[in-house]
Amino acid sequence: MENETIVETRELAKVYGDGAEVRALDGVTLRITQKEFVSVMGPSGSGKSTLLHLIGALDRPTSGQVIVAGQDLAKVKNLDRFRSQTVGFVFQLHNLIPTLTALENVEIPLYEQRISGRERRERARELLELVGLGERLRHLPSALSGGERQRVAIARALANKPALVLADEPTGDLDSQSGAEVIGLMHELNRELGTTVIVVTHDPAVARQTERIVVLDSGRIVREDVVGDPYSEDLKMLKNSPLGRAVLEGIEVDLTIEGTVLYRNGQPTEAGRFLREMLERI
Ligand code: ADP
Ligand code: MG
Repeated sequence: MENETIVETRELAKVYGDGAEVRALDGVTLRITQKEFVSVMGPSGSGKSTLLHLIGALDRPTSGQVIVAGQDLAKVKNLDRFRSQTVGFVFQLHNLIPTLTALENVEIPLYEQRISGRERRERARELLELVGLGERLRHLPSALSGGERQRVAIARALANKPALVLADEPTGDLDSQSGAEVIGLMHELNRELGTTVIVVTHDPAVARQTERIVVLDSGRIVREDVVGDPYSEDLKMLKNSPLGRAVLEGIEVDLTIEGTVLYRNGQPTEAGRFLREMLERI
């Protein structure tokens, strides 16, 4: 079926602590459809990780509902089983077991399935090939680069063919090249396996590669953007910049970008009017 909902949160709230309370989430209502690739952005402490934890049933909400793959998480009896069958997690700090090889790390979630050791090994090998690590099966995490370790973590998250992958700043401690590779890989998985992906990121360049950006601030959704083509994305970025705001507000100073005069004596020039129209439309 097209556009089937896979994740829905309704007025989701999470309050930590009992003395000095922290309202980490404050009424988040969100719907994500199957096969969507969504990014979550927002300042540090805005509730991004909390949202991911609640969607992945790693923690319980104070109030509100989370429905994943048609199941209201408050009513799920065996949350461990739910998680291992439905959700794959990728965290910033790749929590691989340091004494196990890449292959063995990926095999771990497969122990829950009733399959032979041989099948388990075979499946783990296929997953590592899928993430481009077919030549690194017997390496320990310490013998892999940061980007490679993160790819092992992705292979492990995919072991049980989850419908949903939740990634919390998966590129946060990678250099930009490895970060781009990891995101590229998540794209492929999203396209080829139809896995729904929710990725928390600080990096606007990562967010712009997803289909929708949800922006949190102080536990609330403050913006939701459908990501368009690169051209409209550039315009949106400009619109939210001080320069874009100056153009839209028609501030009364002379304004020039790259030698093109947009305002002269407080009046927009032809180029200024054109840019302003573009920004108003986007
Ligand atoms: P983000 O991932 O956007 O940086 P978090 O979801 O981790 O934000 O945190 C949101 C708020 O909740 C922050 O103020 C944080 O300090 C607080 N918080 C997160 N986890 C806990 C916890 N286990 N106990 C108490 N406060 C927490
Ligand atoms: Mg976080």
